[in-house]
Amino acid sequence: MLVDSHCHLDFPDFAEERAAVVARALAAGIGRMVTISTRVRKFQQILEIAESFNEVYCSVGTHPHNAAEELDVTADELVRLSGHPKVVAIGEAGLDYFYDRAPRDAQAQGFRTHIAAARRTGLPLVIHSRDADDDMASILEDETGKGAFPFILHCFSSGRRLAEVGVALGGYVSFSGILTFKNSAELRAIAADVPRDRLLVETDAPYLAPIPHRGKRNEPAYVANTAKVLAETVGVSEADIADITTGNFFRLFTKMPRADMAAG
Ligand SMILES: [Zn+2]
Ligand SMILES: [Zn+2]
Repeated sequence: MLVDSHCHLDFPDFAEERAAVVARALAAGIGRMVTISTRVRKFQQILEIAESFNEVYCSVGTHPHNAAEELDVTADELVRLSGHPKVVAIGEAGLDYFYDRAPRDAQAQGFRTHIAAARRTGLPLVIHSRDADDDMASILEDETGKGAFPFILHCFSSGRRLAEVGVALGGYVSFSGILTFKNSAELRAIAADVPRDRLLVETDAPYLAPIPHRGKRNEPAYVANTAKVLAETVGVSEADIADITTGNFFRLFTKMPRADMAAG
C-alpha cells in the first residue's frame, strides 16, 4: 500500500469527478490521501471532502500565498479546528519567494503561527518552501530551539542544505512528481541521502504530474509513479519503498487510524 501525503482534492480541477479520482487511487493501492488546506476560511469545504471518503483525511492551515489575508488566524483557532477527527496535520504554511504573492514578513508571521499550533497539538506541520532555503532553515532552527514540533518539507525541491537541516531537526522530506523529471538529477541525489526513515511521497495533485503523466492534471493514483522512481533512487524494491514510506507516514501522522485500512 502507498499513501498520498499531500493533494488538493478541493481544487476545481477535481470538481466534476472527485469520487472517481478517489476510486482510481484506491484501485491503484493508494490507501490513504491527505487533502491539504490552503485557506482556513475555506476549511469547511476541505472538511466536507474528508468526511465524504473513509480514506481521505485533511489538514488545516494557510498557504504562504494567502498569508496576508489570514494573519488574523491564531494558533488557538488552528488548534481548535484541528480537534476534528479527520484533521491529521497543520498547514500547508511556509515561505514562497518564487511567487512572492504575499509580503515576506506576512509569510513568516503566518508560518510561525502554524508552528505554534503544530507544537501544541503534536500534529505534523506541512511546510511549503520555495526559493527560501536560508530563511526557512533559520526559522526552523529558531523555532525548534523553543520546542520541537513534527514537520514535513513537502514537495521538496530545495537545496541539499535545507534537506540536511530539516532531517537534523527531526523533520521528514516528501518527494513529488518533480523527482521523476529528467532534469532532476540533483534532487534524486539529495533523495538518495535522506535517511530512509524520513522519506515520504506525495502528488501535490492537481499539479506536478510525474512522468509519464507530466503536463497533464495530476491525481493521487499517480503517486505510484513517483514511488517507483524513489525506489530506484534509493536502491530498494517497489514493495520496500511502499513499506518504508507508508510506515513513515503512519509514524508521523499519529492521529491517522490504521485499523480500518482499505483493502483496495
Ligand atoms: Zn506547497
Ligand atoms: Zn500543496
